Amino acid sequence: MNITYYGTRGSIPVPGKDTVNYGGNTACIKVVVDNTLIILDAGSGLWKLGLELMQTEFAEGKGTAHLFFSHLHWDHINGFPFFKPAYIKNNLLIFYSVENPLYNVEQALSDQQQHINFPVKIEEMASSRKFKKMPVGGSIKCGPAVISNLKLRHPGAAFSYKIEADRKKLVYATDTEHADTLNERLVSFAYGADLLIYDTMFTPEEYKSRVGWGHSTYIEGIKLAKAARVKQLHLFHYNPEHTDHQIAGIEREAKKLFPGAYAAKEGWCFDLS
Ligand SMILES: [Zn+2]
Ligand SMILES: [Zn+2]
Repeated sequence: MNITYYGTRGSIPVPGKDTVNYGGNTACIKVVVDNTLIILDAGSGLWKLGLELMQTEFAEGKGTAHLFFSHLHWDHINGFPFFKPAYIKNNLLIFYSVENPLYNVEQALSDQQQHINFPVKIEEMASSRKFKKMPVGGSIKCGPAVISNLKLRHPGAAFSYKIEADRKKLVYATDTEHADTLNERLVSFAYGADLLIYDTMFTPEEYKSRVGWGHSTYIEGIKLAKAARVKQLHLFHYNPEHTDHQIAGIEREAKKLFPGAYAAKEGWCFDLS
C-alpha cells in the first residue's frame, strides 16, 4: 500500500511561504494498492494529483480512479472541478459513499458545478462516472482492498474509512470531534492499524473556544492511537492559521507523548507494506 499526501490542510487552501513545508492544499490523499488507485477526498490537492495522472494512462482515457469522500464540506470536494482526468473520455471515475440522507456525493458534486459557480457542469465532463453506496458501518471491495466505514461526529455527516490490503491497515478519520470520553467505536475500528490519519485541527487551547465545530486535537489523536494500539499516527487537517513553525512545534510535543506521531506533509510519499 503506497500513500501520498496531496493536501493536508483544513477549511481553506493557504499557499504561501509559511505553509510550504506541511502544505497549503486541502484534504487529498492518493492510496495505491497494486494497480488500484484510491483517492481519499477531493480537496484542492486533487488538482496536482490530476496533473500527475495525466502523465499516465489517464491521458489516453484508460484510467480508473476510486474516490472516497470523508464528507462533502467544500474543503473536501473543491478540487474536483479542476481534476483533469475527469475531462478525458473513457476514464472511469467511481465515487463511493455511505447510505445517509445528509451525504449525497452525486448531488454535492453536481451542485458545486452549477453554472453560477463554475463554467462546466459535471455531466459535461467527458469521463464516465459511477456512483456506489455502502451501508453505514458496512464495507465494499475495491480491487484488492476492502474498505469499510464508520460514522464520525461532525456537523452534517462524516465518515472514517479503513483500507485493508496486503495485510496492512490504514484508517482515515478526519473532520471529527472527540467527546468527553474516548470514542470506543473508533478505537475498535482502528484497532491494530498500521496508520491512523486523524483530525488535529486545533491545539487543546484553541479547542476550548471551538467546541461543536467538529474538529479535534493532537492530544485526542494520541489517546486514540494508544488505545487502539496503532503503529503510526499522522496529524492532519491543519488549522489554516497554523504556520509550518507552529505545526513543527505541535509535532514535537506529540512525539514526546507518542513516538509514532508525525505531522502529515504535502508531497510525502511512503509505503505501508
Ligand atoms: Zn474539512
Ligand atoms: Zn467538515
